[in-house]
Amino acid sequence: MPSPGLKSSVALAARLFTVTMLLAATAGAMEPANPSVSPRLAKHQEAFAEARVIQVSERVFVAFAYSMCNIVMVVGDEGVAIFDTGFRLEEGDSALRALRAKSDLPVRTVVYSHGHTDHTGGSRAFAPADADSPIRVYAQANYARYLAEMHGSTRPIFTRRAVAQLGMILPEGKAGTVGSGGGPVVRFSGTVGYAAPTDIVEERATIDLGGVHLELFHAPGDLDDALAAWIPEEGVLLTGDTVVGTHTHPILSTPRYEKGRDARAYVETLSRMREYPARVLVGGHGLPVEGVEAVADLLERTEMVAQFMIDETLRLARQNLSGPEIAAAIKIPESLAGGQEFADYYHRLSWIVRGVHAKEMGWYGGDVLELVAHSPEHRARRLVAALGGADSVLDQGEAAYQGDDPRWAAELATFVLTLRPEDKRAIELKANSLRAIAYQSDSANERNYLLTEANVMSGELGWNVLAQGALNRVKALFVGPTVPESALSAPSYTFIQNMGPRLSIVRAADADEMIELRVTDRAEVYRLRVRAGVMLKERGTAADPDAIVELDHETLVLASEGLSSWSDLIDNDRVVVVEGGPKFDAFVGRFDW
Ligand SMILES: [Zn+2]
Repeated sequence: MPSPGLKSSVALAARLFTVTMLLAATAGAMEPANPSVSPRLAKHQEAFAEARVIQVSERVFVAFAYSMCNIVMVVGDEGVAIFDTGFRLEEGDSALRALRAKSDLPVRTVVYSHGHTDHTGGSRAFAPADADSPIRVYAQANYARYLAEMHGSTRPIFTRRAVAQLGMILPEGKAGTVGSGGGPVVRFSGTVGYAAPTDIVEERATIDLGGVHLELFHAPGDLDDALAAWIPEEGVLLTGDTVVGTHTHPILSTPRYEKGRDARAYVETLSRMREYPARVLVGGHGLPVEGVEAVADLLERTEMVAQFMIDETLRLARQNLSGPEIAAAIKIPESLAGGQEFADYYHRLSWIVRGVHAKEMGWYGGDVLELVAHSPEHRARRLVAALGGADSVLDQGEAAYQGDDPRWAAELATFVLTLRPEDKRAIELKANSLRAIAYQSDSANERNYLLTEANVMSGELGWNVLAQGALNRVKALFVGPTVPESALSAPSYTFIQNMGPRLSIVRAADADEMIELRVTDRAEVYRLRVRAGVMLKERGTAADPDAIVELDHETLVLASEGLSSWSDLIDNDRVVVVEGGPKFDAFVGRFDW
């Protein structure tokens, strides 16, 4: 169920929607596209309609569609292991209740297939917070790196992308989200209940549950911290997101973007997985695949398709095609897919290919004009003039929209919006065009991205307009007013770095201050020097600081993320200014919190 806060936001959005529609009707303006769902996508999403426990072998059970990812229980003689925990505590709870019908043995072990929140956010349902807990939580060694990245300076952008991709703040149904492509509809509501890992795996580890073993192995691909599990007694392979379910492409790259995703490692991992004589494959998402031949075929075809994406991208790049040109040209041959379906239901092939190209070749496509091109604003000014002025461009855009070419309509609207971001007619044209594309799309992610941005653009939903409460909820995904456990586990240095983009180059232009910042509970000391609009940071004590400040890691998170003001934290004695109060005030005043 959505939270009350979200419900009221949706209601507000609905009222705004009605108002917008009335205005549009009275102005005799363009007809919005009829909300609809592509039949292919609707059919793909049907698989996730019913949450249920699927027994795939004597001792292995999959809680399917309780959350975005599969939650797997392996039953040993004296206890159970849980492989992946779902997105939210509440989802983990309901999966656990259903799994309890199969075994009431205690949870001994939790394994994270990788660090994405849809696999870790429900972990407190299985490993409740308790200092004396005997429950072991396993993650791969690169998990700490990912945790730092997840909380790093790109987090606000990453969060926006993730929330849009998953359709988390869209209404549900024909005018909104119909699911995530890799699972049922994902809602923004709920609690992230994260348990920090207790056991770090480098390459391999074996978990003995009595009568059954999990052989964990490092399986980089979807992220560099991925772990897969082979269960020899059962012939079951748990792949995590290297296999994101049947019917979708291997996710070698995504528009959301993560530094730890590596296409070549992904292929190598698929190759390693094929060495196990698995009778059952359980992917991170999607239905289990049963039968030795079916599993082998899926793994082999997925590896072939992944390798093809890389090689074909490079083959075309060697012909001097740019990323967008390659994305438009590339197709997966039917002969390569065999009987398997590799379709755009989750991330689109064209997106994956652009990501592979960018990672291999960077942004430059080979046309030297890219090195000297006009800025987007200057280009738009010339194009709009060449097309007869803004009104003419929008006339042509509306004609394209009526003529079933919403992509071109959206592009024409964008030229005008580049020059006039507030132009209502251009906003309406672009938003309606995005919706028209979304309603036809076979990709759940594309649908979610487009509808979210269309609704934000037209003010029906938004990062800015959607009541502040919902915006806070977006923040709360990763760092909220209550600092989640994942942020408490992340390095302090990440949050020191996050202060950089908040510095005002205007207010810091004539600054020259050296602050010594002591993170007391981590026994770490940093020198922060703000000078001429830049903050430099180093570890260690300062020789002659202008101010010395002490705080603990949690307080650093609250302050550096702008979740609490420095002055409140000083008043509450959470930040102790040892010396140089006025200088520290000046320092704090140079940032936008
Ligand atoms: Zn996943």
